[in-house]
Amino acid sequence: MKLTDILKKEELSISYEVFPPKVDTAFESVKTAVEKIAELSPAFMSVTYGAGGGTDRYTADIARDIQNRFGVPMLAHLSCVSSTRNAVADMIERLKQYGIENVLALRGDLTPEHKNTDGSNWDYHHASELVRELKASDGDFCIGGACYPEIHPESADSKEDIRHLKEKVDAGCDFLTTQMFFDNNLLYSFLYKIREAGITVPVLPGIMPITNARQVERAIKLSGSFMPQRFKSIVDRFGNDDAAMLQAGIAYATDQIIDLFANGITHVHIYSMNNPSVAAGILNNLSDIIGK
Ligand code: FAD
Repeated sequence: MKLTDILKKEELSISYEVFPPKVDTAFESVKTAVEKIAELSPAFMSVTYGAGGGTDRYTADIARDIQNRFGVPMLAHLSCVSSTRNAVADMIERLKQYGIENVLALRGDLTPEHKNTDGSNWDYHHASELVRELKASDGDFCIGGACYPEIHPESADSKEDIRHLKEKVDAGCDFLTTQMFFDNNLLYSFLYKIREAGITVPVLPGIMPITNARQVERAIKLSGSFMPQRFKSIVDRFGNDDAAMLQAGIAYATDQIIDLFANGITHVHIYSMNNPSVAAGILNNLSDIIGK
């Protein structure tokens, strides 16, 4: 099922992101965690894609297995900057063969090696090139792109970022998924700006439940996200107590999601980090709200 059809539904819904194993030996434990998340019957699930390397194939394999065994529609991520046109074409063909209808087209992060070259030998420079390729393929994909309520770290300012985002959407995005954010006002302001700029596709807010103190530093490094004082106080108070931080992190994410629903958002994507108890904890908190 295409995400655009899922998003047309008016009832409130959530979905989960999972990631494939980084090493082959972790495959079984990741598989078990991902299956437990699929058993929660989300509206859909997404599977991230590594930046090159031998475990990339797991993205498509996991997406196919979950879709076939659990009937959960899947969104496969695909990044391009560390890849070649041939490798990307092979992956697009594989996704088509596997019946994966939804693809999140990403550039991928630049590695230190990328930053030491002028880019003239890269096959891809921006996600919009991958969007165009997916659009031109015979896969009939529903195509998504990433967006950044707090602007992408490489962009000079919000105007430049939104101008490039508009180019990416015009290249063929059917929807956008946001980077994590911890203050919903940042999302509301971003939505206002992109609608003003003529970007009309559905935007899926991405919520990252921070359930242990170690995640905080990683999340900030990865996303550059602003941490509101209310959130910092929670980490300061409960960060050394794993059980308390788990409960507080689930509560904070739930609070963000309820506020989004209350303000007209109908679908939220949760970065569940392969953690079924976090995914289930949030779902439990929302049981009467989303009617599951
Ligand atoms: P782009 O859309 O290409 O944008 C990157 C930068 O280039 C921005 O600053 C943009 O403004 C600028 N830009 C775009 N077009 C132009 C142009 N024509 N000229 C000049 N500048 C331009 N990474 C992974 O490796 N695997 C994943 O599975 C993954 N999943 C993600 C999911 C989400 C929801 C998000 C938000 C990010 C994800 N990432 C993933 C990380 C992502 O790859 C990085 O954030 C990366 O740095 C940018 O990717 P992009 O697709 O947004 O790139």
